[in-house]
Amino acid sequence: MDMLPKCDANYVPLSPITFLQRAASVYADRTSVIYGNARYTWKHTYNRCRRLASALRSLNISKNDVVSVLAPNIPAMYEMHFAVPMAGAVLNTINTRLDARSVATILRHSEAKAFFVDHQFIPLARDALKQLVSDSCDSHNAAEEAVSIPLVVAIDDQDVPTGARLGELEYEQLISLGDPRRHAPVEVEDEWDPIALNYTSGTTSAPKGVVYSHRGAFLSTLSLLLQWEVGAGPVYLWTLPMFHCNGWTFTWGVAARGGTNVCIRATKAAEMYRAISDHSVTHMCCAPTVFSMILEAAPNERRPLPNTVHVLTGGAPPPPAVVERIERLGFHVTHAYGLTEATGPALVCEWQDQWDALDSGARARLKARQGVSVVTLADADVVDPETLARVARDGRALGEIVLRGSSIMKGYYKDAEATAKTFRGGWFFTGDVGVVHEDGYIEIKDRSKDVIISGGENISSVEVEAVLYGHPKVVEAAVVAMPHKHWGETPCAFLAVKGEVKEEEIIRHCRKNMAKFMVPKKVVFLEEGLPKTSTGKVQKFQLRVIAKSIARKEEEEEEKRMQREQVVAMSRL
Ligand code: ADP
Repeated sequence: MDMLPKCDANYVPLSPITFLQRAASVYADRTSVIYGNARYTWKHTYNRCRRLASALRSLNISKNDVVSVLAPNIPAMYEMHFAVPMAGAVLNTINTRLDARSVATILRHSEAKAFFVDHQFIPLARDALKQLVSDSCDSHNAAEEAVSIPLVVAIDDQDVPTGARLGELEYEQLISLGDPRRHAPVEVEDEWDPIALNYTSGTTSAPKGVVYSHRGAFLSTLSLLLQWEVGAGPVYLWTLPMFHCNGWTFTWGVAARGGTNVCIRATKAAEMYRAISDHSVTHMCCAPTVFSMILEAAPNERRPLPNTVHVLTGGAPPPPAVVERIERLGFHVTHAYGLTEATGPALVCEWQDQWDALDSGARARLKARQGVSVVTLADADVVDPETLARVARDGRALGEIVLRGSSIMKGYYKDAEATAKTFRGGWFFTGDVGVVHEDGYIEIKDRSKDVIISGGENISSVEVEAVLYGHPKVVEAAVVAMPHKHWGETPCAFLAVKGEVKEEEIIRHCRKNMAKFMVPKKVVFLEEGLPKTSTGKVQKFQLRVIAKSIARKEEEEEEKRMQREQVVAMSRL
């Protein structure tokens, strides 16, 4: 066959910003965004985004410039997902739970040209900017790379009185000043151009700037809509932070399906129940910890669910016992696994019809597996990290989970070394340890750094945690390695519980439900709950520090006891 040339009509760069243009015409009068008393339609949202894009261009924000934002799940944050790339720029959503130093590091590393700040985060942003200015003075003196100070734009909230304002410009003011006839949105010329810059939360190492392409974001969005079987017009509740992998791409995805974005400022039980009931929410995403919040809500915070609510969960392993409980409440859970570098979810536990016949416990256990590659990913596997050989499909052989496909990041911004380390032999290495079951479903056993090695045996903290969650009084559980002079490491469990429960009772429950070598040697109860990141991951490094100091204390006590015994023995001689 003759080679037919590509042309402008058939070879158009893939970009998720096209979803908005389409939504404005197909779903023009449908509600796009709900926030408090505010309502927008898709026509409004499109026009507002065009105006904001034009205002950004008039401020000399141009192609590949970074625009940072520090905001919760509010309409402005949603609009910026379209408006910033429509100006040709790159969106950098910053985790609102970071401290000022980390925010300053991100602003500096990304060389942000503009910095949008929601009024709630003015103190944090002000401290970060102060830090940046002082870094800038130091860099002048030390002849380091120059530090640029971004233009600050305040995001006010009509419903909340504004305190001191940060910056000269305001979000709504920019929207009213923007004139798309003077500064038209920029056409995407190359689908490989960057659309977003997302810093990893740094659970295991220093935060790295992950760069997404328009193509990757487009494919990932479509793939998640398909895998989650999102039909037309979903009512989507923003419980997952939009700053987390762009809301696992549903910022763009809700526009693609002409859905309604229900924005809430804080992911709290009362707000979630109220929003679900008031707006008949059909879909939401969250980390498994949010399930505990829903399950433990006070009676006056609860409302009956008006319909089935489809929940896509991931970011941390969902314990089967919790999945079972949340589904009993009327939520339908789909489980996905992913990471910032994979533009959000990369594996999904795709349901098989024959599993319907199983009892609810068995169904929840199958659902807790991380699953198979999403449809637009080229491949996923578990391999020996040294030889790259695939592990046996037996549910037991451990290896590293690897991925390849167009939704994997372009690379780490200004970090060629880290990029090269993570891309090897045609794969992206996730740093997660897993197994492949006979049916081809992948199950994560741990992060490489979280595996507990006791007397030469690998213990999966995820497996121990799943058993702990099976205890009726356990609300949250995390297991980490505790140094041990004989075994090297032993599991140490940290729990948040409801009611009275003793360490012995937990150990008895474990002995009944797992191999002896996996049973935690120590159980620590944390009244204030487990330390978590804003994306719902337990901060295991903090727990490891506690476990280490417990082990040290126990060792010292043991030594003292032995010395005492020696003294007694000597005195008897
Ligand atoms: P960070 O790596 O900085 O914590 P990410 O949000 O990218 O930020 O975290 C990705 C990690 O979260 C994965 O590498 C994996 O360890 C964990 N994770 C994500 N989804 C799941 C899941 N469904 N089950 C178990 N662990 C998960």
